[in-house]
Amino acid sequence: MSLCQDYFPTKAYVLAEKRLGSLLGRERDRLDALARGLGRDHAIGPDNLAEQAPFILEFAQEYHKAYDSYLAAVLPQHPRPIQCGPSCGNCCHHYPMSVEPFELVYLYMNLRKRDDFLSIMEDCQIRATLFETLLNGRLASEASEDEAEDGALHDYFGRWKPCPFSNSSGDCGIYGLRPVSCRMYFSETLPKFCTPEFLQTEKNESYVVYMPDNVEEALLGISEHYADLELPESYFGGLLSLNLYEGILG
Ligand code: SF4
Ligand code: SF4
Repeated sequence: MSLCQDYFPTKAYVLAEKRLGSLLGRERDRLDALARGLGRDHAIGPDNLAEQAPFILEFAQEYHKAYDSYLAAVLPQHPRPIQCGPSCGNCCHHYPMSVEPFELVYLYMNLRKRDDFLSIMEDCQIRATLFETLLNGRLASEASEDEAEDGALHDYFGRWKPCPFSNSSGDCGIYGLRPVSCRMYFSETLPKFCTPEFLQTEKNESYVVYMPDNVEEALLGISEHYADLELPESYFGGLLSLNLYEGILG
């Protein structure tokens, strides 16, 4: 898998980057001002999560729209077309990480309205527990925490457990709500090579589309404002942790 960060500054790229940068900059400034007004370091905490929820939901939606525009500007710059399409969910057997806290809140609040909410939480629990077990196993043998996490992610993919939101056809059941961690992953090679067997071979040409450094910095500034909620960055672990605020989020 490769990481793609350098793109030509085409008109579409410059506009998309500007849109993302200004959206994230505005939200970071809003949260900075909110924290200042509250006289503390972090703007969002259990005490004002419910009050802030409408703003968080609106921002998360705008963020996903702006990231999709960014993708539309950068994907054509790749020399080979992506092979990703409907019913193509092999990559949905990974354990998604680096999910932003506001994306977790956005998804969680939408999931709470569903009849199968409890069963989704159970599925998340099963996956989070499996990952933790694999991570603990790796921590005992790897030299660093980063290596242990990489190893555990690899082990998890090998267990071939589908995401709870992946339906029986291999489509994402929450497509419009999915986090950027899911939106950023592509492959130039056929889906049959997006499997544990081929992942680290030349047959698999998958890659991740990151955002420019200035945009990533603004994103970090926003996410730090959620530190008091103590949410893990992992997808399923993060959703489970939000469930602790069930009474607040209604
Ligand atoms: S990364 Fe692979 S499995 Fe995932 S959507 Fe693209 S081609 Fe399909
Ligand atoms: S949320 Fe959707 S895109 Fe992301 S891993 Fe789950 S099924 Fe796949």
